[in-house]
Amino acid sequence: MTKDNRKCSFCGREGKNTDMLISGVGAHICERCVEQASLIVAEEKNLKNKHQIPSFKLFRPIEIKLHLDQYVIGQEEAKKVLSVAVYNHYKRINAANPKPDDDDSVELEKSNIILVGETGTGKTLMARTIARKMKVPFCIADATVLTEAGYVGEDVESILARLLQVADYDVAAAERGIVFIDEVDKIARKSDNPSITRDVSGEGVQQALLKLLEGAVVNVPPQGGRKHPEQKMIQVNTQNILFICGGAFSGIEKKILSRVQANAIGYGASRAERIDRDNILQYIAPQDLKSYGLIPELVGRLPVLSYLNPLDRDVLRKILTEPRNSLIRQYVKLFEMDNIKLQIDEEVLDYIVDKAVEFKLGARGLRSICEIIMLDAMFSIPSQPEHSGTFQLSLDYARERVEKVQPGRLKAAS
Ligand code: ADP
Repeated sequence: MTKDNRKCSFCGREGKNTDMLISGVGAHICERCVEQASLIVAEEKNLKNKHQIPSFKLFRPIEIKLHLDQYVIGQEEAKKVLSVAVYNHYKRINAANPKPDDDDSVELEKSNIILVGETGTGKTLMARTIARKMKVPFCIADATVLTEAGYVGEDVESILARLLQVADYDVAAAERGIVFIDEVDKIARKSDNPSITRDVSGEGVQQALLKLLEGAVVNVPPQGGRKHPEQKMIQVNTQNILFICGGAFSGIEKKILSRVQANAIGYGASRAERIDRDNILQYIAPQDLKSYGLIPELVGRLPVLSYLNPLDRDVLRKILTEPRNSLIRQYVKLFEMDNIKLQIDEEVLDYIVDKAVEFKLGARGLRSICEIIMLDAMFSIPSQPEHSGTFQLSLDYARERVEKVQPGRLKAAS
């Protein structure tokens, strides 16, 4: 066997010290140099693109709302608020585009969004659906894993690193993307709460997030920064990135109610009586977020505020079948790919909803319950010789499957 003397023609590393060495005509390149080179190419492209940002195809609020209607059941108020906010956001980008130095123009400020509502009510789904409609890069970040710079955990810059990744390192595209930050309620300042004496992360993380929401230029380590400390930082301008924050803010109803009641009393008793106590969230205002523990600066950077309703039985039933890519449509498609026509009795659908309600699993639970019911069929049908025909899913069949699983399993899924 001949000895492999090949070296990377760019950095000089010997073949045996590389994970991969790609050979061309009279030259070789290692995997690290390929990565570096592709970043340089992306950066160069971005520099060129920066000066010729294409205008957005603007969708009017009604069009955006109609699109949302296809995927998100109910939540009318939030869909409307979001449609207007997204329309204004991209209108603003288009308007700023041709003449950034025009002193006379009215500068439209960015309006990031905050959605308040129980988990599993469609906050992420809405953000994702809008990003798809606008054809912009989209990523989800979890506020609970973020920490202040220097602490163990993820720096806020990691959010932008993820967005860049989704955008294939096209900085110009990432700079007009949408970021959904989940569980912002979990980084609320806890000092109002006497039972917790130490504010572990809260305010520091909020301060760090502020930097992104404010529209600053942020230095982002391209790959999270840990593995390749020698890599160059990528500058990302967050001015046109739309941030949509979401959180359950459990218990915020009490704060809303006491504020609304105090106001109503000022106007006389009749107004106080008219408060709809079944849906307190509809009265939410920025000051409630502050009293929950978000710092005023952060609340100020999230001027568009809306709420999501808890999902009742009716809505859950619709979620099962109505959205364009509803769970049931997905199963029908999966079976169809195996030449099986899946037919589900109506009472099975009611049963699935009953179980989701019983175990307090919300919309996410619909999927776990369906999986349990379908598992045996999905396991055996593809292996049956010459399989084709109809699989009729009856209530007895569904019930038997669900009752077979340990009761703890469904509860644990929440
Ligand atoms: P959240 O972000 O509010 O915690 P998600 O948007 O992640 O909740 O919802 C979880 C899943 O539940 C979604 O992927 C979707 O399948 C379903 N879902 C929740 N709410 C709705 C809704 N209003 N309409 C349609 N599907 C929904």
